[in-house]
Amino acid sequence: KLYNQVMDLKGNIRVYCRVRPFLPGQSNSISTVENIEDGVISITTPSKHGKGHRSFNFNKVFGPSASQAEVFSDTQPLIRSVLDGYNVCIFAYGQTGSGKTYTMTGPKQLTEQNKGVNYRALGDLFFLAEQRKDTFLYDVSVQMIEIYNEQVRDLLFSLAMKTLEIRNSSQTGLSVPDASLVPVSSTFDVIDLMNLGHRNRAVGATALNDRSSRSHSCLTVHVQGRDLTSGTILRGCMHLVDLAGSERVDKSEVTGDRLKEAQHINRSLSALGDVISSLAQKNPHVPYRNSKLTQLLQDSLGGQAKTLMFVHISPEPDALGETISTLKFAERVA
Ligand code: ADP
Ligand code: MG
Repeated sequence: KLYNQVMDLKGNIRVYCRVRPFLPGQSNSISTVENIEDGVISITTPSKHGKGHRSFNFNKVFGPSASQAEVFSDTQPLIRSVLDGYNVCIFAYGQTGSGKTYTMTGPKQLTEQNKGVNYRALGDLFFLAEQRKDTFLYDVSVQMIEIYNEQVRDLLFSLAMKTLEIRNSSQTGLSVPDASLVPVSSTFDVIDLMNLGHRNRAVGATALNDRSSRSHSCLTVHVQGRDLTSGTILRGCMHLVDLAGSERVDKSEVTGDRLKEAQHINRSLSALGDVISSLAQKNPHVPYRNSKLTQLLQDSLGGQAKTLMFVHISPEPDALGETISTLKFAERVA
């Protein structure tokens, strides 16, 4: 309850920054991140007259040595609020290679220590539902979709190459009613489905290399709780979104399909930024219609819904341009 009050004061939007460590073999590089203190991150920038500095403010900044458990720890109250009937969106934003998938899912070799937000969130969800079982009966089901070139595809049904419509229905709480909706009763069920989704995503990618960095993937967990004494139904959902890479491609260097992809990504990420910043500024007009991503999440962005954005940066000097533009994007929505 206290958390909900705090979130309300903050307009229900939180932005956390996470700095990826150097990868093995890069250990001699010098990080562009100069300092991290109390939610402020300072970046070293080159300048004509010696070094320059820029600082950015966030609700929290996680340095390169932050563990997956630490990164998740402040997210736990959001899981509780899904069971209380709120809608929640958790995003991973950043250039390709900055650690989005690591935060949301984890590395390729998953262990109990390094598993990401998705696994931890679902573990908590089932744990809390079990704790409440004398007062609430919860039904949990999941959908997993991908948005590529502004087309929505079901990732839980291998044959579904056709694109799906977004139709926000406040009755069912489903924004993509035609995407497979699979009932689950444990974290294990969800892990199986996530693996299926990842495999299906890879199938669609054979013609192109690494499509995953150029599409948004969204795992949605729908929760319906019935109060066993009053019979009241609570409905909440949680969207776990691994966004397409935010890097700006040099328009002079790409053509054809690659350019089209890049334009779709740029447009949808800036549409997301516009929606979140107008919500943060309490702007009465929120431009949800400008992208499939914001249409999809319309009922889960704004109002009583809670949003958490993990913004990722890479420490390498040659990523500096993208690091600054990522931090500027994040500053706009924070
Ligand atoms: P993205 O999804 O943004 O393209 P990845 O999550 O795939 O980036 O991360 C790129 C590489 O860096 C992967 O090999 C990943 O395991 C590694 N990595 C990312 N973040 C961390 C971290 N916090 N600690 C250790 N390795 C990380
Ligand atoms: Mg990724």
